[in-house]
Parts: sequence; C-alpha cells; structure tokens
Amino acid sequence: GAQTLWRQDRDHFIHPFTDYSTFHEQGCDLITDSDGIYVQDAHGNRFIDGIAGLWCVNVGHGRAEIGQAMADQATRMAYFSTFNNLSNAPAAELAAKLAELAPAHLNHVFYSCGGSAANDATIRLVHYYFNRLGKPSKKRIISRNNAYHGTTYMAATLTGIASNNWEFDTLDHLVTHLSEANCYRRPEGMSEAEYCDHLVAEFEETVERIGADNIAAFIAEPIMGAGGVLVAPEGYHARMQAVCRANDILFIADEVVTGFGRLGHFFASEKVFDTQPDIINCAKGLSSGYAPLGATLISDELFEVLGTPQGKGGVLSTGFTYSGHPVSCAAALKNIEIIEREDICKNVREVGPYLEERLKTLSHHATVGDVRGSHFMMCLENVADKATKELLPVDARVGDRVAFEAQQRGLIIRPVGHLNIVSPPLIWTRETVDRVVDILDEAFAATTESLRE
Ligand code: PLP
Repeated sequence: GAQTLWRQDRDHFIHPFTDYSTFHEQGCDLITDSDGIYVQDAHGNRFIDGIAGLWCVNVGHGRAEIGQAMADQATRMAYFSTFNNLSNAPAAELAAKLAELAPAHLNHVFYSCGGSAANDATIRLVHYYFNRLGKPSKKRIISRNNAYHGTTYMAATLTGIASNNWEFDTLDHLVTHLSEANCYRRPEGMSEAEYCDHLVAEFEETVERIGADNIAAFIAEPIMGAGGVLVAPEGYHARMQAVCRANDILFIADEVVTGFGRLGHFFASEKVFDTQPDIINCAKGLSSGYAPLGATLISDELFEVLGTPQGKGGVLSTGFTYSGHPVSCAAALKNIEIIEREDICKNVREVGPYLEERLKTLSHHATVGDVRGSHFMMCLENVADKATKELLPVDARVGDRVAFEAQQRGLIIRPVGHLNIVSPPLIWTRETVDRVVDILDEAFAATTESLRE
C-alpha cells in the first residue's frame, strides 16, 4: 500500500533537485493517477496541474492514444540500434515531421534522451563542426546568468543558476556567462530600449575581449524558464543573433520549454522572436513527457559539414544507445498529431493572453511584486517591498508557502525560491483559468496572513 511505497521511496530513491535537510521529515507526495488537467495523490486528493508535470505534459494527462501508440510500437519492435545504416520507422517519420514543423532551414535531427543530453550533444556537434572547418580554436560557448540548460556536465556549465552548481564542479574553461535579460530588475532609470542596447553592448564587448576566433556559439532560451520566466526586451534575440552572424558565432535556441505550443507555436524562435537559429533544441513537450526524448534540429548549412551528403562528411563519432528510440518517437508522433488535430497552439494563442491578464489581477497582494511571462509560461515574483523590490528573507520560504496554500486548495504550482511558476498543460480553458486565479487569490491572501504571524 501507500505506506510501503512511501517508505521504499524514502529509503532508496534519490530525488533530483531536492533539499535533503528537510526531505526525511516530510517524505514524498506520491502522485498515482492523472487525467486531463488533473493529477491525484495516493490519498485520493485531486489537484489541477499548474506545471504540466514539469513544463512538459503539453497535451494533458491520460491520453490513451499515446499510450496505445507506445504499446503498439513496444510490442512490434521495442528497440533496435540506429547506429550506422540501421533505422526504425518512428525515428525516420518523426525526423521528417520535425523538419516540416521547424523553420525552413532546419531539416536535420539528432536525437537524445532529454533536454540536458540534447544541449550536451549540441556543444559536441558545434565543436566538431568548427574542427572540420579548420577552426579548432572556436570552442567557447556564451550563455547567460540564470539560464537553465540542464544537468549533465556540459549542460550544467551552460546553466547560469549559481545555486544549481555551487557544490558541483563545472567546465568553466568552456563557457562565459553574460547578464540575464531581466526587465523587472533592470538598472534604475533605464528604459527597456536602453536596457536592450546595454545587453547587446555587453555581448559585443565580450566578443571583443575573448575574440571571435575563440567563440563557437551563443545559447539562449527564448524566454528564460527555471531562471524566473524572464522575458527579454523587445528585439533582444534578433539583435543578439545579429552579433553572432557578424562574428561567425552559431546561434543556438534552447526551446526545451518554449517549443511545442507553450507560446502558441510549435517553435517560438521564428514566429515569436523573429530569429533563425542555426540549431534548435527541444525535449519535454516534444513527447509531452509520455516518454523521454530530446531532439537537436540542425540547419542545412551545418549538416553540409557534419553530415555525409556528396561524400563531404566523416565518421560522426557520437550518439546514444537510445538515439531515435522507437517507443519515444512513436509517443512524439502521436503527441504532435494531437497538437495539430486539436489545434492546441490556437488554444494557447486564445487562452494565453487571458491567463496573463487574470494573473496580473493578483498584483494587489502584498507580496506580488511582478507578474510576467507569456501565454502558458508565467511567473509571479514575491517581494518584501514593491517600491524597492527588496526580497523577503530566504528562510521565509515565500514561494513554498504560496505553493503549499495553493496545493491545500487543489492546485499544484511550482515554487522556485521567492518565485511561483505557472506552466500548465496547454489544454486549460478560460474556465480553468478562472478557477486557478480564484485559488491563487486565496493562496496569496493566506500567505500574506501567515507571514504576519
Ligand atoms: N533546457 C531547458 C530550457 C530546460 O528548462 C530544461 C529542463 O527543465 C532542460 C534544458 C533540461 O532538460 P532535461 O531535464 O530533459 O534534461
């Protein structure tokens, strides 16, 4: 029963990103069932899922047809190698589908098992690309403070959230971090346009200092996710891309969160941010979390050098046992079919602005200093003082308090320090939004009350 599971978990399962100073007192919350926008725990409590699992269950829970597609594939041919000339039907079909959905120049797919592995593989491919072009000094990758790119060695180094790495080693000789684009906390007296100039100038100065000959790529999330759902100033990404182009630096978009509908399009880079990345990485919503899968979408130009057409290629000595796993690819194909059939991107474009508008009504609460984000990727930032934007003490655990109060009332949202993130399945309706905002209204009121005690 639940007690046994609870004990087995406590004694044997090492949880990721978990505070082990409190974990053993609290134990875990077993999520046992799910359906549409809901999940249920072992005690039978039902919650609205406000985080899409972990920004990934884009089509919602309990889609039997995805389960069936996976079962059919697993029964017919669960696994076989894709190394050398071996392939499988779902991997080939999905690669063609991704090429169709992605910006026109991205037509080649390298598979991995998730977002971290996709980013890691990308950096290897980028280094290989410049080596083959006879420019082996182009190694350094430019990332940003507060970026989240994953947890393998390289991806954790790209990540700029200090607390993720402070007790682990990283590969710092390979990565330089620029400032994050944080409009809420931009320097006093600077307009948004001036702030954008300032950030672009920082990149230009960094290129000047390190030397373009030593820089391979710039990587950025279109909207920074785990770092606080930070929306860059208007025009920022296109201008950063222009600096890349002028300096023979590749522009990599990490669309692990923003891809597959979260901002109302399959990919946000081109449609929302007016950029044409050389590489787009995706994972999460690619399979809506029904199976682990990551994909690196590579431009025709890069493929000319990496790949093997016209005998130009060589041996691409990298890959995973599970690159192009048939069951994961079958899940992704069915997931994409659902997104298209139900026009889920359109739902996001319609309901997203309503979610933004309604969440902004929570600004009257004492702790809510900023409500930001776009469409189904939103965040509320808690502060002690709205005028100075000063934070509450860390031990007030304000994000945890709000999340706890929301969960008591039937809604799961994500606390990250002083932030609360809302990144729901993309099937929320206006009615769901109204219910969620009512719950959050009560949760923030209860938090303000509890902070006074
Ligand atoms: N990139 C971004 C933008 C992410 O948000 C994440 C995960 O949250 C990752 C990469 C890492 O993906 P994964 O956890 O699948 O390795």
